[in-house]
Amino acid sequence: MTILVSGGAGYIGSHTVLYLQQQNEEVIVLDNFSKGHRNALHDVKFYEGDLADTVLLDKVFQENKIDAIIHFAASSLVGESMEKPLDYYENNVLSTFQLIKKAVEHNVNNIVFSSTAATYGEPKNIPILETDPTIPTNPYGETKLAIEKMLKWSYEAYGLNSICLRYFNAAGADPEGKIGEDHTPESHLIPIVLEAALGQRDGVKIFGDDYPTADGTCIRDYIHVLDLAQAHYLAVQKLLNDGGCDVFNLGNGHGFSVKEVIETCRKVTQKDIKADVSPRREGDPAQLIASSDKAKNILGWKPHYDNLETMVQHAWNWHSTHVNGYKNK
Ligand code: UDP
Repeated sequence: MTILVSGGAGYIGSHTVLYLQQQNEEVIVLDNFSKGHRNALHDVKFYEGDLADTVLLDKVFQENKIDAIIHFAASSLVGESMEKPLDYYENNVLSTFQLIKKAVEHNVNNIVFSSTAATYGEPKNIPILETDPTIPTNPYGETKLAIEKMLKWSYEAYGLNSICLRYFNAAGADPEGKIGEDHTPESHLIPIVLEAALGQRDGVKIFGDDYPTADGTCIRDYIHVLDLAQAHYLAVQKLLNDGGCDVFNLGNGHGFSVKEVIETCRKVTQKDIKADVSPRREGDPAQLIASSDKAKNILGWKPHYDNLETMVQHAWNWHSTHVNGYKNK
């Protein structure tokens, strides 16, 4: 089959592209390279441009017989979304609106959407179920939820099949070390700790140690990026076989505290990483852990790398061999 991957040069997008190539599927990438990296793409047809460019979208749909879309392209920084909410409505909601409109126009009826645990906001229950309330606490989560709803109504009205995948904390990298995680600026815990291990920053700040958790630091559910990639492929297959419109959590089901992550990084890297407690980061819930039973039962998803040490090891394989990320590679 032929799958269009929007945002295919980003972190999760590029790992999904690689995974699809390994399954011998035809992949076409659409990316404006604002955050993604050309060097993350290997032997794949790509179009450079924006989802807001409807002329380009027509061209992509006319030139290729696309069976399904996996839609990653989005802005995804919680803090930035608080400062620039309209940019998030523009880049996320408006761009996706154009993509959906063009998909319907060109009779491409299957879309897998990259959603987020941020759609839940402060959770009422742990582990979080897909049926739990969705009350986002920031514009990032709000825009992803708006898109989920746009997809639901497009299914009802036009028969556009969709699956929304709500990820928890993506981590790790291609085990072969071909591609990895490279954000500028970096805000995610594991790459930050690994950069500190490489001496690229002066230690790590622990954002708060007075949360109601066993060691006082926040707990998150880390999930290997290739396990996420596998779930996208299964979701595409589900849509092509059965159609429909649904939402799935993707997480490990196990939580790790910030201190446990730092300790695991010390073990894997064999480096003495300095960590100091600093004030809480605004908007961080104490604990986010997914129930992914639905994805396992309905999609047949089987995560392979659910051990934190393995995720950190794979991330370290990449970081320690690409100290400047994709630059000069
Ligand atoms: N965190 C931290 N120091 C950092 C970066 C992150 O203590 O330099 C904490 C953050 O407060 C959260 C956890 O690590 O509790 C995971 O944060 P990340 O930004 O990686 O993912 P998020 O859960 O916000 O999507």
